[in-house]
Amino acid sequence: MPRYEYRCRSCGDMFELSRPMAESGDPAVCPEGHGDTVKLLSTVAVGGASAASSAAGAPRGGGGGGGGCCGGGCCG
Ligand SMILES: [Zn+2]
Repeated sequence: MPRYEYRCRSCGDMFELSRPMAESGDPAVCPEGHGDTVKLLSTVAVGGASAASSAAGAPRGGGGGGGGCCGGGCCG
């Protein structure tokens, strides 16, 4: 699920919410309970399948299995 950053205009606090893209424009309530918040533009990595599937025919190293996990959003 993508994460979005918001800033509260009442207390100036910045916070993140994980929510479905369909709800990204919904009002967010800051941790202090204020409703006057704005959504910040942030880089959101939503799982794309294009980059991960380009390794065909290029075996490298031996199946360590490490790395690359956080690129696809499976860590969070
Ligand atoms: Zn606040």
